[in-house]
Amino acid sequence: MKQIHNFSAGPAILPKEVIDNCVSALQNFSGTHLSLIEVSHRGKEFVAVMDEAQSLVKKIMNIGDDYEVLYLQGGASTQFLMVAMNLLENRAAYCNTGTWASNAIKEARHFGSVDVLGSSEEKNFNYIPKNYTIGNDYDYFHCTSNNTIFGTQMHTFPECPVPLICDMSSDIFSRKINFSAFDLIYAGAQKNMGPAGTTLVVIKKNILNKVNRYIPTMLDYNTHIKKGSMFNTPSVFAVFGCLQTLKWIDHQGLGNIEMYNSKKADLLYSEIDRNELFEGTTAIEDRSKMNATFVLKDDKLNDSFMQACNEANISGIKGHRSVGGFRASMYNALQLESVQVLVDVMKNFKS
Ligand SMILES: *Cc1c(COP(=O)(O)O)cnc(C)c1O
Repeated sequence: MKQIHNFSAGPAILPKEVIDNCVSALQNFSGTHLSLIEVSHRGKEFVAVMDEAQSLVKKIMNIGDDYEVLYLQGGASTQFLMVAMNLLENRAAYCNTGTWASNAIKEARHFGSVDVLGSSEEKNFNYIPKNYTIGNDYDYFHCTSNNTIFGTQMHTFPECPVPLICDMSSDIFSRKINFSAFDLIYAGAQKNMGPAGTTLVVIKKNILNKVNRYIPTMLDYNTHIKKGSMFNTPSVFAVFGCLQTLKWIDHQGLGNIEMYNSKKADLLYSEIDRNELFEGTTAIEDRSKMNATFVLKDDKLNDSFMQACNEANISGIKGHRSVGGFRASMYNALQLESVQVLVDVMKNFKS
């Protein structure tokens, strides 16, 4: 089979064995001789999948039983409103680092007042704001760990005297961090942990039940916690796919994954900095190890560089329309060899 170097920003590359296990479960799920997508989610085979998909997250994150793990639908975008609906009574603080953070802020404003403590909007989100302090009178503080579109990443997190909430959609399980510093973490699965169709929510139970409004049943975290993330039919295929990726992550260890991701990012960024035709679009200290954004200094060369990438079987490299240029997403499953192929194309590219 022709090897494609898949730099897609999302849905994105998954480990080959994850795809293979999904294919096989679509044909014969767990010895049932039925497909994963044609059996009851209440059957013992799928219940075992959900249980393990929850417990492996706790194991990899090294968090205790004061946390619940949910697999919800509606994408990370639904979490923008669920977070605020469930937790915002008076005032919340947000850091605005890009399109996704802006969307989260927009939703939250419908439920209470929102203070934006830091924003890099005036520089087209090319850096991570850092000089702010979070007061202790907020209901919570919300941040976005990695900015998929603009290519910046929080390499440290602020001191936070109130519940700390983070959208980790595009760098979940890409590095070792102290997950127990967070009170709620959410991530759309399709960037780094599985197929589209489910959103991981990890929530510390004691932050709930502090708002007075009516919360519709499906949007209330309590509903899903009480039923072990099986209140209604979960996205069975997506949860199964996440479980396969979690097993792959657990097998390698987050420390090794982090080292490998750093190697890939270092390889690409050193070429961006060395090569006079290219330049990075973000502050160097805030560069994302997941999504590297860069441009050709002469944008008239864009089409011929794109063509050179196509000829080398490089896919998904076109930058987001709000930044232009190029974006190389280097999620966990992307091989160092694929980054080397891209770097070689850049090296050999002539104006
Ligand atoms: C992709 C992405 C989202 C949106 O996710 P959906 O699941 O499509 O709603 C939100 N936040 C971040 C950081 C993302 O990368």
